[in-house]
Amino acid sequence: MVKLSDSIKNLKGIGPKKEKLFHKLGIYSLEDLLLYYPRRYEDSSKIVRISNAIIGEKNTFKVRIISKLQNRRIRKGLTLTSFLAEDGSGEAELSFFNAFYLNSKIKIGSEYLVYGKAEFFRGRISISSPEIEDIHNLKKLGKISPIYNLTEGLNNFAFENAISQIINLNLFEENLPEEILRKYSLINKNHAIKSIHYPSSRKNYIQARERLIYEELFLFELSILKNKFQNERRDAIKFEIKDKVFNFIKDLPFKLTKGQQNVVDEIFSDMKKGKSINRLIQGDVGSGKTIIAIIIMYLAYLNGYQSSIMAPTEILAKQHFKSFVELLEPLGVKIALLIGSTTKSAKRDILDNLEMGSIDILIGTHALIEENVIFRKLGVNVIDEQHRFGVLQRNMLQNKNKKAATIVMSATPIPRSLSLVLYADLDISIIKTMPLGRKPIKTIAINENMLDKALNFIKSELSKNRQAYVICSLIEENEDYENLQAVEKVYDELKSFFSGYSLGLLHGKMKADEKNKIMTQFAENKINLLVSTTVVEVGVNVPNASVIMIYNAERFGLSTLHQLRGRVGRGEYQSYCILYNLSKSEVSWERMKIMTDSNDGFYIANKDLELRGFGDILGTRQSGMPNLRLADPFRDEIILKYATEDVKNILEEDPNLESKKYFYLNREIADFYSDLN
Ligand code: ADP
Ligand code: MG
Repeated sequence: MVKLSDSIKNLKGIGPKKEKLFHKLGIYSLEDLLLYYPRRYEDSSKIVRISNAIIGEKNTFKVRIISKLQNRRIRKGLTLTSFLAEDGSGEAELSFFNAFYLNSKIKIGSEYLVYGKAEFFRGRISISSPEIEDIHNLKKLGKISPIYNLTEGLNNFAFENAISQIINLNLFEENLPEEILRKYSLINKNHAIKSIHYPSSRKNYIQARERLIYEELFLFELSILKNKFQNERRDAIKFEIKDKVFNFIKDLPFKLTKGQQNVVDEIFSDMKKGKSINRLIQGDVGSGKTIIAIIIMYLAYLNGYQSSIMAPTEILAKQHFKSFVELLEPLGVKIALLIGSTTKSAKRDILDNLEMGSIDILIGTHALIEENVIFRKLGVNVIDEQHRFGVLQRNMLQNKNKKAATIVMSATPIPRSLSLVLYADLDISIIKTMPLGRKPIKTIAINENMLDKALNFIKSELSKNRQAYVICSLIEENEDYENLQAVEKVYDELKSFFSGYSLGLLHGKMKADEKNKIMTQFAENKINLLVSTTVVEVGVNVPNASVIMIYNAERFGLSTLHQLRGRVGRGEYQSYCILYNLSKSEVSWERMKIMTDSNDGFYIANKDLELRGFGDILGTRQSGMPNLRLADPFRDEIILKYATEDVKNILEEDPNLESKKYFYLNREIADFYSDLN
């Protein structure tokens, strides 16, 4: 029996070579193939009368050939064959290049379907190089045909051929509950899959989209909310808010901002009540989220609990380690750092001490999630820059002690209405205030003509003993983008311009310890100018850096630009951001203007959403959410709201989806989690 999980290699027409090409597109199984939806459609289903032809557009006509017009040689290697056709409403001339064979194929007096662009020429409709098929033997014409995103060596026919072999086998189980299908009159899964590839009409296509978008968003919310419903039922630790923690806050080198204080209060109040804690702290870059983690984790320590903080990069983990040690070690807190580059024996030690309870705070990268990381008494988990991690990773940490509090911190601002749905399983705190004394970063966008001026400006900052970042987008030169400034090339160029200064190069393909070495040297002001890819995007803190220049700024999302800009302006110095826009397009300058106009991450995120749509911003694929192939939570906000309501109602009634009617739904969710493992 044919199953969805079967390999595509069993299909006719797919040999080892083709199979590899399909793999390139991420298609391995029949399921992958069926879920590879068309990019667009060619619609020749609507027959138009010649007298109603839409000039300049593709039309489908049903015609009878009345005469051969001519075979004409235009020049060497180019002949023109043309026929006259009519459909009762008017006449049209059909002409074909280098198609001499048509003379014997096309029969005067017979009927054909013709699909092509109509022009008005010499007093009649003329269609150049149309597709033409015998009305009694239609293959492609007369219907809506799918057009797929291809890769070299695979043509559209290869897709159609493969998909048509299985499209009628109804391989999917219906995963949505019957009452949902009825409530919205959604078509069933197999029907929807069939229709998204081969819509029988425009209406049918819309039905298919509706059903599939609903399903994607429903599963999306279910995967988020299922945890919440389970979390809320679990016991949580009751913490005592000890006086020592207030003394600690009072003795900090700075006063907490109002925003920070509010968040601390909110979390303390939950901790005191023994309420299960799952909270998202959103705060713009530099709003001071780390200190909140330090305070909460110190309170956990005072209550005899261990805690952990997970960061997306080693650089950031090390930086956290430094801040934690500085503030907490004098108070007797034992802190350890566990990252990918920790040696085996050091790791052994850490894991032993952790299990015995002689480490209070563990700081690290996703190395923390590993199964052999066992805490004796875990009280608090903090996940920094949560958009880099997924729901699944969060759950894995949580599973180390289900009673522990989970706090996730993010500098990626998302409009509140949307985050209520996207992070529906989390309580949300937003820090709106910035620490006092911060000078807003001055941002300017430049083109090639201003490059020298900009570089000289950077030089003048370096001469005042400040430091600078230069950000480029990729490592290798990429033929696709003529103007792309590769990081190594820029580094070489700048080395001569900035002779006398120490330059560093940083990119994602370097080994972890090399990267750390460079970053440490930059942090210690042994490197004056750091040329880097976006690996520095997340969270690094070098207060002495006062300029960041971003090459090919047009290629970055606004939110990324804003994150990058946040690398400067972290100290007492006036800081600058130079956006080097190598594009001449108007849109790119509009985007630059948003950046130069505003320093407000939420404003920028909203604009970014408007300009780019949703997918890019959250990177849903990486962040462990179900794939959204058709749905866009931003555009489809209303469907998202309905789906969220439905999911809540179902979970309220049956939090573990144990009822028989949720059998396939449950399996889908389980598959989804195991896919990520
Ligand atoms: P982010 O929210 O981007 O993670 P950080 O926690 O790294 O920001 O804080 C940025 C800088 O601001 C750090 O150097 C930190 O010590 C400092 N800082 C945090 N809170 C305050 C405050 N209330 N007043 C002054 N400086 C602060
Ligand atoms: Mg941070």
